[in-house]
Amino acid sequence: MPETLLLIKPDAVERDLIGAIILRLEAAGFKIVELRLVHLNEAEAQRFYQVHEGKPFFDKLVAFMSSSPIVAMVLARENAVSDLRELVGATDPAQAACGTIRQCFGVDVTRNSVHASDSAETAAVEIKFFFPDR
Ligand code: UDP
Ligand code: MG
Repeated sequence: MPETLLLIKPDAVERDLIGAIILRLEAAGFKIVELRLVHLNEAEAQRFYQVHEGKPFFDKLVAFMSSSPIVAMVLARENAVSDLRELVGATDPAQAACGTIRQCFGVDVTRNSVHASDSAETAAVEIKFFFPDR
């Protein structure tokens, strides 16, 4: 079964939204096959988001992602990568479609509650980042 990585970001963990978000993932048919709570340090957050290094929002993003704990999980389902991206919604919650996780829970374009891998190749790398034994 195809797998993808989902992160519940600090803004959502801080607002006690872990359960609400997992409810939506399970209702959409995603199986949780790995799950852990982790507090990234700055270097780890930089490494996870290295594709964005040099962009104007990079330092703010790294500071945010290392500010408090996140939840990392591997989700399995048919069409896991593209269907999870659809369930998550656009990067900016203000632009995200009605009923998407970011539209419902996101605060702003940085504090947008969740991360989801954007391709099968990225998913494989991102899963290894949090679950190296997988
Ligand atoms: N981000 C930001 N400002 C922007 C664009 C992105 O703070 O103008 C943050 C946001 O948290 C986003 C992450 O950087 O989720 C990664 O950006 P990307 O363009 O890959 O968006 P995503 O794939 O998460 O939708
Ligand atoms: Mg992305």
